[in-house]
Amino acid sequence: MSRIGDTIRRLHSTLPEGVELVAVSKFHPAEAIREAYDAGQRIFGESRVTELCDKTAVLPDDIRWHFIGHLQTNKVKHLIGKCSLIESVDSTRLLELIDTLSERAGVVTRVLMQLHVAAEETKFGFSPDELVDWFANGGYRSLKATHICGLMSMATNTDDRQRIAADFAVTAETRRRILSAAPDLTGFDTLSMGMSDDYDLAIAEGSTMIRIGTSIFGDRV
Ligand SMILES: *Cc1c(COP(=O)(O)O)cnc(C)c1O
Repeated sequence: MSRIGDTIRRLHSTLPEGVELVAVSKFHPAEAIREAYDAGQRIFGESRVTELCDKTAVLPDDIRWHFIGHLQTNKVKHLIGKCSLIESVDSTRLLELIDTLSERAGVVTRVLMQLHVAAEETKFGFSPDELVDWFANGGYRSLKATHICGLMSMATNTDDRQRIAADFAVTAETRRRILSAAPDLTGFDTLSMGMSDDYDLAIAEGSTMIRIGTSIFGDRV
């Protein structure tokens, strides 16, 4: 019996409809991913480009890989055509590069804009006001081969559940503000928020995509 498989099956049977599960497999070996895959999981999240590419080479083709880490511009080219979703676009420069390389490769890349809502200074992402302004100014209209599917955020690293819920509420509110600032925007539906310790709070605030690592695979080595 596989403990990883059991957790995947339990999550699949308990998550509300409309909430997708990203199994965050960073730092875990291909065999662990295979156990989750055999239990029916198809979306996996990785935070390092080399690790993602190594894993795509040895695992089934119908896995949908999400990139969730900070993406350096010099590594973008390795992800084009390989990722089902880049969740961590944290600058317009990165977005423009993804668009240029996707157009050149003849593919459309799906992305999420990463929102900074946590108290920590170290987390990457746009501030809510900055991102609303960018959409209001029509920045997305010049994209040729990139589809912005929504927002990704991480809550403050704290035991204060109210603070965490408030961070997720800001993310959901920012999506609504963007939609009213940019009414012609389409397919901007995804709210990727919630990890092992806080996904219940994220779902309560409207998450449509949770990213779970430790609860599925155990501690990262
Ligand atoms: C590592 C990571 C996760 C998974 O966190 P867990 O606490 O292990 O569930 C989710 N999102 C991002 C962006 C991560 O880097």
